Amino acid sequence: MTDVSVRFAPSPTGRLHVGNARAALLNWLFARKHGGSFLLRLDDTDAARSTPEFAQGIEADLRWLGLGWDRFARQSERFDFYTAATGKLKQSGRLYPCYETPEELELRRKIQLGRKKPPVYDRAALKLTDADRAKLEAEGRRPHWRFRLDHGVTAWDDLIHGRVEIDMASLSDPVLVRSDGYPLYTLSSVVDDGDLGITHVIRGEDHVTNTAAQIQLFAALDYAVPVFGHFSWLLDAEGAGLSKRIGSLSLADLREQGYEPMALNSLLARLGSADPVEPQLDVQALVAGFDLGRFSRAPARLDPHELDLLNARILHASDFNTVRDRLPAGVTEAFWLAIRGNIGRLTEAADWWPVVSGEIATVIEDPAVVAAAAETLPAEPWDGATWKAWTQAISARTGAKGKALFHPLRLALTGRDKGPEMAPLLPLIGRDRVAKRLSGV
Ligand code: GLU
Repeated sequence: MTDVSVRFAPSPTGRLHVGNARAALLNWLFARKHGGSFLLRLDDTDAARSTPEFAQGIEADLRWLGLGWDRFARQSERFDFYTAATGKLKQSGRLYPCYETPEELELRRKIQLGRKKPPVYDRAALKLTDADRAKLEAEGRRPHWRFRLDHGVTAWDDLIHGRVEIDMASLSDPVLVRSDGYPLYTLSSVVDDGDLGITHVIRGEDHVTNTAAQIQLFAALDYAVPVFGHFSWLLDAEGAGLSKRIGSLSLADLREQGYEPMALNSLLARLGSADPVEPQLDVQALVAGFDLGRFSRAPARLDPHELDLLNARILHASDFNTVRDRLPAGVTEAFWLAIRGNIGRLTEAADWWPVVSGEIATVIEDPAVVAAAAETLPAEPWDGATWKAWTQAISARTGAKGKALFHPLRLALTGRDKGPEMAPLLPLIGRDRVAKRLSGV
């Protein structure tokens, strides 16, 4: 494959969600895998709902994921192309004016459903004479414009679904232009994909029937028809639609909750494919094992617990330099190395920092153990071996062992009953703080 060109085409009418992130990532990986280019296209023709803030949010979210784009386009700057395409379609007789109001269309739909017929547009407008149209326009009606589909079967070889065949008589002729002259998604998307040389359209399977109509539109506009790949739905672990916990969260929410972008990338790059999920620290590392052909038509299940586990594994393997900007001011590398194996989210680091650098509430569970600890407290300098020698001395003096020894010490020194290994933590807390905490102050 040469000159692969793919795109991610969100509408800036909201923030990106997990499903959008998957579309962006799979396209990005496909581009990188085939040495191609990745276009970010903002589908912002809907001026009423699109905002510059959402557009900026989308760019920020993609940067957070580490998915840079090679090309950028926004549909609101491309109306001339859509107008030219409309002219061409009118000339070839593929675009025809319709005058039905939404209420009339809805009534017909109900009648068809009542007769157990599929609610497909009946093409009544094709039968209008020039005189009929003139009369309707004189009444003040403005036409919307439909693309006349060729009936028969439209087929393509989908990268994920294999051969797909759609009986075009089962589809309504799609509206391409609204009565106010505004171009709709089917038109603008095909014109851009054609004009910007998109070779592979990779998107969710909710677009499968759009694809059949779009293939005819590419041909009607003399564009090369791209290859299509439709990935499956994302479901939650129980098989329902994506759960509230993850599905309704935006990437901004996940970032705020302290998730690592690479936890999400690592999961989304393999979810729904035959390949195992592996935590990777860099999105580039996901390219080599990526193969869209390994993705299944079956819905992919996103388990929030799996995301949590991946997040923890990624933090455990992260160098200080990759996280330091997001840690509390003053945090040292030794601190990071001491706690990274024990946190699920980076935000937890801030809870541990006062344990080694500030004041915490002390908990004295077993006064005898704590008193022995204070009496045997070694002189500094301390290192990674200090904890073992000291606790042996406390044990020798009190007879306490195992949990009876370690639990009261951990509580007295950290204020919590669980946490990172004490051996590396102890020198970071330092003798003065330890002495103070053991004295119960
Ligand atoms: N803006 C469209 C959407 O978000 C793009 C769909 C497509 O990939 O063609 O659904």
